Amino acid sequence: MALVVTKFGGTSVGSTECIRAVADRLIARKQAGNDVVAVVSAMAHVTDELTELAHEMCAEPPEREMDMLLSTGEQVSIALLAMAIAARGLDAVSFTGSQVGIVTDAVHSKAKIAEVHGDCVRAALGEGRIVIVAGFQGITGDGQITTLGRGGSDITAVAIASDIGADVCEIYSDVEGIYTADPRVVPDARKIAELSYEEMLELAASGAGVLQMRSVEFARNHGVVIHSRSSFSDAEGTIVKEADVSMEQAIISGVTLDTSEAKLTIRGVPDRPGIAAKVFGELAKENVNVDMIIQNVSDQGIANISFTTPQDDLIRARHVLDRLATELSAREVLVDESIAKVSLVGAGMRTHPGIAARMFEALARSDVNLEMISTSPIRISCVTSGARAKEAVRALHDEFGLGKEAITIEKMPSGEGASGSGASREGVSAEGAPGEGVPGRGVPGGDGGA
Ligand code: ADP
Ligand code: ASP
Ligand code: MG
Repeated sequence: MALVVTKFGGTSVGSTECIRAVADRLIARKQAGNDVVAVVSAMAHVTDELTELAHEMCAEPPEREMDMLLSTGEQVSIALLAMAIAARGLDAVSFTGSQVGIVTDAVHSKAKIAEVHGDCVRAALGEGRIVIVAGFQGITGDGQITTLGRGGSDITAVAIASDIGADVCEIYSDVEGIYTADPRVVPDARKIAELSYEEMLELAASGAGVLQMRSVEFARNHGVVIHSRSSFSDAEGTIVKEADVSMEQAIISGVTLDTSEAKLTIRGVPDRPGIAAKVFGELAKENVNVDMIIQNVSDQGIANISFTTPQDDLIRARHVLDRLATELSAREVLVDESIAKVSLVGAGMRTHPGIAARMFEALARSDVNLEMISTSPIRISCVTSGARAKEAVRALHDEFGLGKEAITIEKMPSGEGASGSGASREGVSAEGAPGEGVPGRGVPGGDGGA
């Protein structure tokens, strides 16, 4: 008998028919003798529609009210799923984030989980019930409803799996697992059987939206094994776990595309110590996440600072830069919302020189201009114009032969590939800082390895 946490995303519960199919899947697991928990997202498009409604009401909706609104999406789908199971004659119970004790900090719209008190989950499982939990939502210590960022049901599932000691956390979506590129962009992308947390973290951080980055980080910190698989087939998906010697280590795991960021530039700031600290310090105070950074210095004692930030943080970032532009007598603030980030991820970059050169040559042959570049030990990211980005992804996928069999590292040196993972497992009861373990990514106001 296994204890399984499953998670079904929006498309998997997108209609009453889909919800019935999920109910059948859960019932089959239960009748096979397993204890089953299902974490569910809002029905497809509901979160987007609620967001649009909010913006019809108010240009900048108060964040507390936004979370109040968005959390209702998941409440609909958990109740419908529990009803679908009841209609089949089995016992299920649904819980909101606050009912299952997902306690978060007070940062509305991207709250971090501080603790999970899953007692009611354990009790309901003990009574033989199928437990259904609303993804994406939590509650602060003083009772305010929060949400966990887009795609946040993934982290709800991983956090519950960790709290109740589940054998595996199965994340179901409309693809069969993690592919070498988004199969919607690259039709010959290949499904990957196993990935280390480290590789998955880089893929997720650089745009592979199939798993939310913070959920992978939480899984790594707490040793939760993730199985990414399809709601629409029984095929084995991709296992994400700690790297070990038996794991096939591809030189390049995949290519990703991220169109969710914007580039901001503050032109003509004084070139003197403390200016970057001031700019990124003010951004951090407003909880603006910063990814890549570039500073160009002219010989006239002035500099231009450019950085990328999630579109969701753009309004706040713009306010901060406009204020600083006046304070620092800067020339102007520029915003480019049409950028894309294309990244190549692979643990083999550590030991195989020349990957960056090959990447840049392939992009040059496709006439793709690079605006910014950043790297981690196992990732190279380039910012380019959004219009050329899909072509860039396909060019890189071809260049590195990713549609064919994986080119693997012959023998994994002991300990190699496991670095950066597992080290902080013990005693971790909460989510780490955003971007922790992923250089140059998501640190509020932090510097990004440009
Ligand atoms: P859900 O709504 O179930 O959470 P998501 O839409 O968040 O599902 O994630 C599934 C989608 O992720 C797929 O439809 C696919 O287009 C996209 N995707 C992006 N990168 C990848 C990748 N490397 N492998 C598989 N899917 C990917
Ligand atoms: N419903 C939320 C979203 O659309 C959370 C999730 O789907 O994971 O982002
Ligand atoms: Mg998702």
